[in-house]
Amino acid sequence: MNRKIPLRALELQLLSSGSKIGVQLMWFVVIVILPLINPNIIQFHNPISIKINVLLALATSILYEILKVVYRKKGKDFRWVVTAQLLTSIILLTWFLHVFGRINGPFFVLYLLTIMESALNLSIFFPNVVVTIAAIATVSEFIWLLYGGEISLNLYSLLQVFIRIMSLFLMRSYGISLAQKLIEVEKTRELTQEYAKNLESVKKELESANIKLKELDSQKDTFISMAAHELRAPMTAIKGYVSMILEGDAGDIPEKARGFLADVDSINDRLIRLVNNMLNVSRIEEGRMVFQNEYEQLTNIVRIVYSEFIPEATRKGLEYKLDVPKKIRDKIFVDVDKINEVIGNLVSNAVKYTDKGSVVVSLSQPQEGIVRLEVRDTGSGISKDEQSKLFHKFYRVESNVGKTTGTGLGLYISKLLIEKFNGKIGLESEADKGSVFWFELPVAS
Ligand code: ADP
Repeated sequence: MNRKIPLRALELQLLSSGSKIGVQLMWFVVIVILPLINPNIIQFHNPISIKINVLLALATSILYEILKVVYRKKGKDFRWVVTAQLLTSIILLTWFLHVFGRINGPFFVLYLLTIMESALNLSIFFPNVVVTIAAIATVSEFIWLLYGGEISLNLYSLLQVFIRIMSLFLMRSYGISLAQKLIEVEKTRELTQEYAKNLESVKKELESANIKLKELDSQKDTFISMAAHELRAPMTAIKGYVSMILEGDAGDIPEKARGFLADVDSINDRLIRLVNNMLNVSRIEEGRMVFQNEYEQLTNIVRIVYSEFIPEATRKGLEYKLDVPKKIRDKIFVDVDKINEVIGNLVSNAVKYTDKGSVVVSLSQPQEGIVRLEVRDTGSGISKDEQSKLFHKFYRVESNVGKTTGTGLGLYISKLLIEKFNGKIGLESEADKGSVFWFELPVAS
């Protein structure tokens, strides 16, 4: 028997002990008390034996139940009580059947109930013991009756014994399968409790790890925004000096040096864009971004950004074109610097990821009240699978990592900004077939 009895089995045991004591009490009243009131009410062959049997059965049952309660309260192992109780009850039952109706009698069914009861102790051993004793008693009882001449050996009496033995074994199988099921339930319950405990401690560990990660994340954000802030001023100064030299403020410079300085200028521009993106991420995410909206023609912003990339596109030998319709309603209400950064990100990517062919920047009016900017290139293109992740923070297309420098922030920022101005951003692309990045903004009335 298991030390820890599962709740369901305990309830069943209590139910079975309770009903057994109830039946025994009833017997006690019928067999002992009633004949005291009226001696003629029931006639027995062996009145003394039967009365002693019924008295003993009731008394031992009550005693064992009291013992079980005491042991359980003290938290002690009460297996021996259960064993003793079962043995007592099977012996008393055999004696009872012998003096009261024999195996022919209807009380044979009590054997079957005892087998079931023994199974409730979650053991396979108990039903086996009970069934063995009951089978031996049934056969010996049969032989006893045969020798006593009370029954004769014929097909009917043999069949009767056979059916009784069979029903004993059938009950044993039911009892054992019940015991096994209850044991399984208990094991599952214990396992579930253990898992629940483990899960709770894993949850706590995860929670504290999460808090630590959040702290680290915010430290990293602070570091990035500080570093970006410190980098921006010297880079802007470099840009100023380089353009002064290129404009001849420091006197004539050789053509070769001019070429190198133009490269310095465009590399510096790229660094400024990168630093701006880093600053923008933390500002937008922390809600610190200040927008200074004003009315402006999108064409004007596009022209400025477009011209910034002429040197880089020329250096790469790309066909670089701007296509703006003569008549277009392109007045928008935006923070011009921010839209400037978005267009800068898109054009910079197109030039960066295109090695040969063309980059075309164009404006159009797909429908009344909407103005659309497209940056079309003949570059590496992006597979459908990667397109869905492209606007995620820090996402870079696998094949570009290592080949080109970048942070994976440009498109993420661009999306946040365009959505701030109630616009939409997207792309059409296929691997190796170039890309079209676009955004649409509402036209201001
Ligand atoms: P970054 O260019 O700094 O890596 P972006 O957010 O601007 O970050 O772009 C994310 C990724 O999208 C890039 O790493 C690149 O792989 C891919 N990408 C963006 N624009 C293009 C383009 N025009 N052609 C091909 N790939 C592109």
